[in-house]
Amino acid sequence: MNSPTTMDPAPVLGLLPPEPAPVAGCETCLRLARKRQAARAAGNGSGVSDCNVLIRAHPHGPRREDPSSPA
Ligand SMILES: [Zn+2]
Repeated sequence: MNSPTTMDPAPVLGLLPPEPAPVAGCETCLRLARKRQAARAAGNGSGVSDCNVLIRAHPHGPRREDPSSPA
């Protein structure tokens, strides 16, 4: 028998990307941030990442704070 029995390493989640911060003054972001906090407090991990995705995807037009990294 010459079958390679390489064991695939288990998928490592590793370092999660930093959570997006809500944009100051954006009501939607603030609401999502609050929802994310509540989800985390409830141990609802998927709810937390849902909010992260939504915050990240929320458009805000040109940013003034960080001109060096066009998102
Ligand atoms: Zn927003």
